[in-house]
Amino acid sequence: MPVNLLDYDLAHLTSFCAELGEKPFRARQLLRWIHHFGESDFESMSDLAKSLRTKLVTRAVVEVPAVLADSTASDGTRKWLLSVGPGNGIETVFIPELHRGTLCISSQVGCALECAFCATGRQGFNRNLSVAEIVGQLWLANRALGRDARADKVTGDRRISNVVMMGMGEPLTNFDNVVAALRIMLDDHAYGLSRRRVTVSTSGIVPNIDRLLHECPVALAVSLHAPNDELRDRLVPINKKYPLKALLAACTRYVEGVPLDHADLDEAAPLHARVKWQRQAAPRDFVTFEYVMLRGVNDQIEHARELLALTRDVPCKFNLIPFNPFPASGFERSEPEAIRRFQEILLEAGLVATVRKTRGDDIDGACGQLAGQVQDRTNRKQRHSAEAST
Ligand code: SAH
Ligand code: SF4
Repeated sequence: MPVNLLDYDLAHLTSFCAELGEKPFRARQLLRWIHHFGESDFESMSDLAKSLRTKLVTRAVVEVPAVLADSTASDGTRKWLLSVGPGNGIETVFIPELHRGTLCISSQVGCALECAFCATGRQGFNRNLSVAEIVGQLWLANRALGRDARADKVTGDRRISNVVMMGMGEPLTNFDNVVAALRIMLDDHAYGLSRRRVTVSTSGIVPNIDRLLHECPVALAVSLHAPNDELRDRLVPINKKYPLKALLAACTRYVEGVPLDHADLDEAAPLHARVKWQRQAAPRDFVTFEYVMLRGVNDQIEHARELLALTRDVPCKFNLIPFNPFPASGFERSEPEAIRRFQEILLEAGLVATVRKTRGDDIDGACGQLAGQVQDRTNRKQRHSAEAST
C-alpha cells in the first residue's frame, strides 16, 4: 500500500526519506512541493532526482478527500463538502474579510459530544479525521482559491492568513492527528502560518489543553457559553466531566505558558528580557471565550455579571456568537438588544468583547450549522427524533 504523504509532518517525512535511503533535506523539499506549491504529481517535482521520483511513484501518493459540493454564499463565504468515505462528508468554510482570509477546518466526522445548540452535535459521530484529511482541507482550499493562493500577487497578502479549528468535531479529542496537522500548518516549508493566527477551539477538554500548550502552542478559544456549572452542564455536557473551575485554571496555565527550566535563565539579563523569555512558550497573552447567545437562556444581565466574576482572573477576550438556527434546535437567537446589552456590560468592565458577524448562513456555513454527512455510530439522531415525538 502506498503511503499518503499528506499524513506526514517534517519529522515523519524525514524518517520516510531515511527508509528510502535519502538525505534529510529531501524531506524539506517534499514538504515544500506538497504544501507550499500544492503539487501532488511526483513527476512534476523537478528538483528531485529522477531516482527518487521513481521511488515515490511506487511507494507514495498525495491524496486529498474528493470534493462533493462547492458553494459560495452571497457574502463571498465559500463552503466545500468533502467525501471521507461512503456516507461520510465533512465541511470546510473559507471566510474572506478585508485584511484576512480565514479557513474553518473540521477535525472529526460529526462530534462525539452533544452540545445542546450545535447542529454537528445533533448529527452524531462516526470517526476522527486523519492528518491527511485535516491538512488536506487547507491544501484543497489553497488550490481552489488559486494556485498561488498563499500570497496575493499585488498586495502580498495571503488568501488564507488564518486557520480556525472550528468546523465539525472537537479537535482536542482527536489530539495526535490535530497536533500533527497543526505542525504542518506552522512549518515554514509548508504553509508557514503564524501560531497566533492558528486557533484551536475546544469545548473544554482540560487535560488536552495542557498537552496542547506543551506540544504545539497555538491560539486557544474556549467555548464557554454559560457562567455557572448548572447551566453549562445542560448546554455543554462535557462540563460534568471538566467543570468550570478546572477549565478556567487550565486557561490560566495556557496563557502563562510553559515555565522554563531555571537553569536556562540568564540571571544577568535584565528583568524584562527574562520575563519575555519565561513567557516565550505562551502562544498569546489571552484566551478567547466563545459565548453563543441563546434567547432567554444565557443572555440576561445577571449572566453577564456572573461571567465577569467567573473569569476575573483569566486574561481573556470575549467573542459573542449570535445563535445560528437549524431545524428543531429548540433554541432561538438572542434579540440584538440583548446581545448589545450583554456586550456593554463586558466592555464597561474593561474587557474586549466582540460580536461575531454571521457569515455564510445562506449556505448553512455559519458557526454551528455545519452538518456534512455522518454515518452516525451513536444512534443520536434516532434518539432525538424519538424525544421530539413524545
Ligand atoms: N468543538 C469545538 C469547535 C467547533 S464549534 C468547540 O465546541 O469549541 C465552533 C464554535 O461554534 C463553538 O464555540 C461552538 O460552541 C459554536 N456553535 C455551535 N453551534 C452553534 C450554533 N448553532 N450557533 C452559533 N454557534 C454555535
Ligand atoms: Fe461538538 Fe463543538 Fe458542536 Fe459541542 S459545539 S457538539 S464540542 S462541535
